[in-house]
Amino acid sequence: STNRPISRVAVLGGTGSIGVATLDVIESLNRCDPEFAWEVSSVSGHSQIDSLIELAAGCHTPPQCLVVSDAKNEAQAAKALNSASAQPNSRLTNRCRLDVGPEALVRAATEEDVDVVVAAIVGRAGLESTLAAVHAGKRVALANKETLVVAGPVVTRAAAENGSELLPVDSEHSAIFQCLAESRARQSQPATLEQSTRADSATTATDPTSATGSSAKTHWPGVRRLILTASGGPFRDWTTAQMRDATIEQALAHPTWKMGAKITIDSASMMNKALEVIEAKWLFDVPADKIEVVVHPQSLIHSLVEFEDGSLIAQVSPPDMRMPIQYALTYPRRLPCPAPELDRSQGWDMTLCPADPDRFPALALGFEVARVGGTAGAVVNAANETAVDLFLNGQIRFTDIPEICRRTLLDHDHESSPTLERLLKLDVWARDRARELAQI
Ligand code: NAD
Ligand code: MG
Repeated sequence: STNRPISRVAVLGGTGSIGVATLDVIESLNRCDPEFAWEVSSVSGHSQIDSLIELAAGCHTPPQCLVVSDAKNEAQAAKALNSASAQPNSRLTNRCRLDVGPEALVRAATEEDVDVVVAAIVGRAGLESTLAAVHAGKRVALANKETLVVAGPVVTRAAAENGSELLPVDSEHSAIFQCLAESRARQSQPATLEQSTRADSATTATDPTSATGSSAKTHWPGVRRLILTASGGPFRDWTTAQMRDATIEQALAHPTWKMGAKITIDSASMMNKALEVIEAKWLFDVPADKIEVVVHPQSLIHSLVEFEDGSLIAQVSPPDMRMPIQYALTYPRRLPCPAPELDRSQGWDMTLCPADPDRFPALALGFEVARVGGTAGAVVNAANETAVDLFLNGQIRFTDIPEICRRTLLDHDHESSPTLERLLKLDVWARDRARELAQI
């Protein structure tokens, strides 16, 4: 096993929920992958310096580089790294260097010997490093859905041009990716089989925003619809009036997943599903009307694909992100995974029911943004990130979140084929506008 070639992974957002799960997967793969040895080449954290160092010290081969993306924490990090490497028996040695600031994320993502970049930073803050990894032609295990929401066409085009594999970590998109295996295999064959889905891509062709976003995965032979499942979050059965008075603690109490605060609030408002509809549109290059959302409280079915003949293929596994993370790392190989098996010793329920867009207005917004494309994704994402922060600081009501997003979207001048620079300017504008709207 000592002669296995090494697969090197940059873990951006290493201190987060996805980051920690990724490090666990890498340790496990390193033990059980017969083909490759796995190493963490770099790991980043924004602020939790102690956990960053602890995580690095826990790797069987310590990372070459620790990235502290918030430069304010440089002195603290340097001191902590020094004292950790000075500990007797510490696996952290002088080999492990420190790099700071947002540019350090880009350096880590593009390092020559890195094979896979795990994009697990939360929010728009993950965009530059994810895009840099794509430009460098790396395999990107993409958890950071906001990057695709903000700049889907830019990112997918860059991936196609640079031969970068953009593989989903988001469990729903991983599920769809897995369900599409057969269609993907057929894509490599001559065109005759591919025309079935082309018929209604007329919608796509007249949509100027998607003309720029096409990647290699344009045709899905025989596919009728992608069906994203949603747990429904903690407020699945709540009335709008109840949600108006929801507390921060109630919104943070997700019934099936343990995740970072931002995505947990997004799950409660179902904005997470809205972002995932947009993510699916860009990732799989399908128009919004081929995407559907169903509520599935047990989070066992991670999504489904409906085919032209009415057959539905679903991907089922316990709710544990280590499975989709590992699949993005080892694709197309399947290996034992540290996530637990589905317990089949008891009966188990898998309930599906329609989503309710009246109680969850964020959902309708997501479909609308996926339909119009262009600048809408950047605006809704920025408004949402701002509104979630305001809610977590006790400054607005839970139900203000989708309303602020809706009004920010309405207030912006939509553009169909924006440049990246324009999108980033709009991101700043939308944050200001959302803050203003919150005060009215
Ligand atoms: P988290 O809050 O637990 O972790 C976020 C990570 O990003 C941390 O490492 C943090 O240090 C870093 N970070 C925060 N602000 C930063 C900034 N300004 N610059 C650089 N780094 C910064 O979040 P998470 O739950 O792990 O989610 C990460 C991403 O994965 C999100 O985009 C989320 O939507 C997506 N995702 C998460 C899950 C999940 O189960 N947690 C599932 C699907 C998708
Ligand atoms: Mg998801």
